[in-house]
Amino acid sequence: MTMNGMGSAEIGEQLGYAVHKSQCQRIIQIQNELTVAGKLSKNEGGSFVIPSQNIDQHKWTKMTKEVAEMNVPQFKKFAEYAKVNGRTQQSISTELSALVVVCNTTGIHPSEIINAKTITGEENYIVKLTEVMMDFKEKLQTGNAELNKHSNHNNHEAKQVRRYSQAMRHMCHAYGRQFPRFPPQHILSGTKGDTFGAYNDIALTDKLAEGAVAFIEKNGKDILGEKHWDYGFVIATALMPEMITRTESILQWKVEFQTEHDEYEHNPVEYDFVTGFYEPKTKDYWNKFIVSPLARKMLKTISEYRMGKTIMPFNKSTASIERRWSQLMKEYYISLGILPETVRLSKKTRPDDCIFQQKTKQFFYDERGIYVLRHTGAHQWCRWTNYDYGFVADLGWKDMNTLKEVYAGQTIKQRLKQDTCFYCQPPMNPDAMESKVFCKAQHAFIYYSNGGKSKVSQN
Ligand SMILES: [Zn+2]
Repeated sequence: MTMNGMGSAEIGEQLGYAVHKSQCQRIIQIQNELTVAGKLSKNEGGSFVIPSQNIDQHKWTKMTKEVAEMNVPQFKKFAEYAKVNGRTQQSISTELSALVVVCNTTGIHPSEIINAKTITGEENYIVKLTEVMMDFKEKLQTGNAELNKHSNHNNHEAKQVRRYSQAMRHMCHAYGRQFPRFPPQHILSGTKGDTFGAYNDIALTDKLAEGAVAFIEKNGKDILGEKHWDYGFVIATALMPEMITRTESILQWKVEFQTEHDEYEHNPVEYDFVTGFYEPKTKDYWNKFIVSPLARKMLKTISEYRMGKTIMPFNKSTASIERRWSQLMKEYYISLGILPETVRLSKKTRPDDCIFQQKTKQFFYDERGIYVLRHTGAHQWCRWTNYDYGFVADLGWKDMNTLKEVYAGQTIKQRLKQDTCFYCQPPMNPDAMESKVFCKAQHAFIYYSNGGKSKVSQN
């Protein structure tokens, strides 16, 4: 026992190695260090105690992330819950930091939010969390937030309230507390709410989507270098919009399809069909049509040398392939003038005018350059089906609303064009149009099967 009441065995346990009694002086010194680190505190009598009693009383005391992670039950429960739900260690750690920042700044213990009740005893966590986050926002904006010492105070991300709100909401989820979808301006709206629908008009036109395939075919090897180049990048860029896939799913897909023949309105049609296309993010299986000549040509090419295998050989992780693919897309967007050349620089060394704000087109092209292709596919199929959201959703969305709100909103101008159909009601100057539109899916299939002829010119 030291004079301050803590046994050498207990101290050894805290430190993770045996401590001998004769090292009393050293022990006191260590106890003082632990106190500074927040792992021990002194009670009124001057004895060292483990501060968990404080935490059990649901009163928040300022602490470091390391201490909070080990001692705050709500944080531990959040971390376990997030892990079970497949979150990465990195993203869990980022959110834990945000949780500690909020609690340290507002002095609120998580249990005060999770167990908040109205006077009549009803659950009140939404109101409580809203109040806490309003208080937090004010302190954050006036420079009075207790940011983690590692986070850069000028960092744009560290100043975004929504990421803190999101972390707090996720912690509440671990206790079964659910939240409605908030409008973007609400303080509890998270990343999704905040940008929900903000990018639903972003898509490449048919000509620009074909241009991306041609650009990568022509310049890809020079951009990446022989060692990192694979022709699969060309194939994947052509197939991702046509099949409306996510990035990882097209890269994990094993090439397999059947060529189908059918007849619509007394016209022969031919297309390629993929059944059971697996979407790892949502764990769903979908059917996909490959109809346009370019996509069908690419599918035929890849099937000649990688049938039953992934489009690109996987020596490394999907992430490294994605990184290179992103680079190719970025170079394409630079060549179009959508992005400035300075996006080639790392975020840290970019000039201010090259750090894009969320909800801007450039932000999306910069951050989600490949994903633009999924949006492109959603728009393409909507144009092909006269915005038949039910049909398009069956190719890759569980609900029509997400497709409509997030991926492919129809503008009022597009609605005026709904009678135009490259097959049955072609525009006067089809070549001048950036994208093709059809009055129904079958007319797109007929048009592409007959080599791109309208009904009038066909007869
Ligand atoms: Zn038509």
